[in-house]
Amino acid sequence: MAIEFDTIAAISTPPGEGGIGIVRISGDEALEIADRVYKAGKKQLINQKTHTIHYGHIVNPKTDNQIDEVMVTVMRAPKTYTREDVVEINTHGGIVSVNKVLETVLHNGARLAEPGEFTKRAFLNGRIDLSQAEAVMDVIRAKTDKAMHLAVTQLDGNLSRLIKNLRQDILNTLAQVEVNIDYPEYDDVEEMTSRLLVEKAKEVKGQVEALLETAGQGKILREGLATAIIGRPNVGKSSLLNVLLKEEKAIVTEVAGTTRDVIEEYVSVKGVPLRLIDTAGIRETEDIVERIGVERSRKALIDADLVLLVFNQSEPLTEEDKKLLEATEGHHRIIILNKMDLENKLDLDELSEYVALDSIVQTSIITEAGLVELEAKIAELFFAGNTGEKDATYVSNIRHIALLNETIDAFDEVIKGIEMGMPVDLVQIDMTRAWDLLGEITGDSVQDELITQLFSQFCLGK
Ligand code: GDP
Ligand code: ZN
Repeated sequence: MAIEFDTIAAISTPPGEGGIGIVRISGDEALEIADRVYKAGKKQLINQKTHTIHYGHIVNPKTDNQIDEVMVTVMRAPKTYTREDVVEINTHGGIVSVNKVLETVLHNGARLAEPGEFTKRAFLNGRIDLSQAEAVMDVIRAKTDKAMHLAVTQLDGNLSRLIKNLRQDILNTLAQVEVNIDYPEYDDVEEMTSRLLVEKAKEVKGQVEALLETAGQGKILREGLATAIIGRPNVGKSSLLNVLLKEEKAIVTEVAGTTRDVIEEYVSVKGVPLRLIDTAGIRETEDIVERIGVERSRKALIDADLVLLVFNQSEPLTEEDKKLLEATEGHHRIIILNKMDLENKLDLDELSEYVALDSIVQTSIITEAGLVELEAKIAELFFAGNTGEKDATYVSNIRHIALLNETIDAFDEVIKGIEMGMPVDLVQIDMTRAWDLLGEITGDSVQDELITQLFSQFCLGK
């Protein structure tokens, strides 16, 4: 049964152009409110079957002014996104008309939904768990195919399932401990129980640690591998950037809330999402190194997960090249010897004093030679040590990572407690805490305030 809520409405399509916009209404009065503004002869939405679509017009009931020609979808609880009655109005007249339709709906009894409120209701009405709700948010934000896949997998409940299994495991152990305590028929029951607790704590801790190991990669999948293209002027950085962007269908997004010239560019190289940082500097006619100097580019490097360091191999190594080699030391880096179509004047022996030869790729952006090798190298770096399992469960959410770390602490307390000979019922408390902490990931033991805060991060209309 759904909890009682008022009826909410919002535009559920992303802002911007696009012919169609959807106004979504959810709540007990969704159909009544829609009927106040929907006109199609004598037809009334409230008499329509669930999951049906209806043609008509949205009209201001006070003035009889026609606002837009629409298709309206009627979806009755409980088989809806929120598990409440939902009406979706598909408008055709562009952004102005979508806004007008929403305004009319709001004037006729609905309340403007808070960001994430539709998804919050889906959660509160028990349709999805918290990690699935967070995955919805990630889908909205996903910027690359891999990130989208990760979010969708989580939406399918991969992580939830795993966590639920771990919790069940802990619960079984706690139940067994309880039995042992209640029926201390055997002399060695205390010792048996201690061993049971310590073994289970170690086992589940190992599984949580394995899950956490995916965290770095999960974050990268979601946000892209922060990649800096570095090199002195004229070596071919802009050319490389363009070739990456062109060949791999870049997704360019404006960073919300900043000026228009701050642009993050995403490109997928063999499935590895790269977030190209500081591309504005590369795009400008002046070059980043020239403009801000080696010292400053050292700072820009701090954020980089991957450095593409470009040299012009038709010239000998310069002092500036060597400074850049030093500045990028310790980073995951690929050395690109560009302009291989020209006569080679760069001394490989000298370069090999600074870098391992297997991190070097020779390219020509003019003839496109070596670009395939470059892409392979990027993928190789990223997937190193990873089996590349398609359906692996990744953890990428900061809140989840924090909770998993706390869970490990709780297990450590269990292990330490038993080793120090603490009474079993005290150790039980830490074991129960681990169980609670894992539950917070799926929302099975989560406080109201956290829920409110989480859902306020959503886009409007979801
Ligand atoms: P940046 O200053 O490092 O960004 O270098 P640009 O990408 O602006 O390139 C400088 C010049 O080198 C341009 O005239 C490019 O056309 C040229 N260039 C870039 N890559 C190659 C290459 O592989 N071979 C040759 N021959 N010229 C290149
Ligand atoms: Zn340039």
